[in-house]
Amino acid sequence: MTFPKPTAQERIEALGFDYRAQPKRRLDKCPLCANREFVSLARQDRYGFPVRTDGCLTCGLVFINPVMTDEAYAEFYSRTYRDLIAAYGGKPKSLDSVERGQVRYAKLLGDYLEPHVGTGMLLDVGGSTGVVAQAIADRFRLREATVLDPSAEELERAAARGLNTALGTIEERRHPGPVRRDPHVPDARPLYRRPEGSREGP
Ligand SMILES: [Zn+2]
Repeated sequence: MTFPKPTAQERIEALGFDYRAQPKRRLDKCPLCANREFVSLARQDRYGFPVRTDGCLTCGLVFINPVMTDEAYAEFYSRTYRDLIAAYGGKPKSLDSVERGQVRYAKLLGDYLEPHVGTGMLLDVGGSTGVVAQAIADRFRLREATVLDPSAEELERAAARGLNTALGTIEERRHPGPVRRDPHVPDARPLYRRPEGSREGP
């Protein structure tokens, strides 16, 4: 007797992550431009969680709202995120397979950034094992590249590539340079702050 394979939805439910129960905060201003007019774009994410997404009518930023608290995100990234990706894709994702995907992504990202990037410094927010940061830094001959990520295990690989590493989230950091926007960053403003002492904006 054979049993049907579980679907992605069943695998995700088996993880037991309760999105509704996560502590959240509601944003009444756009995290980038601080204007207050939004449009509701989505009520569910690809995992089936009831994640509400708004778009700012002034600057176009798309952001999750209400958004999980920093503590809830820290817990999510350390305990649930990789398992969730694996459940969604149907197979466990080792860091090696994550890195293979990042090599392809770095090529596409580099092509996209080509007309816009000068030389300087790079901060990759949510930069995982550093494959993308290294590829972009090499391609554009950047002086310095830093990977910011909440996973110590992934940062070990970034450090082994010779990159600077910072454990944590963007809310706790300031850094100049071009950035790769991570869709999970709850507050975008620190990304766009002008570095202290600099004349050119990031
Ligand atoms: Zn805005």
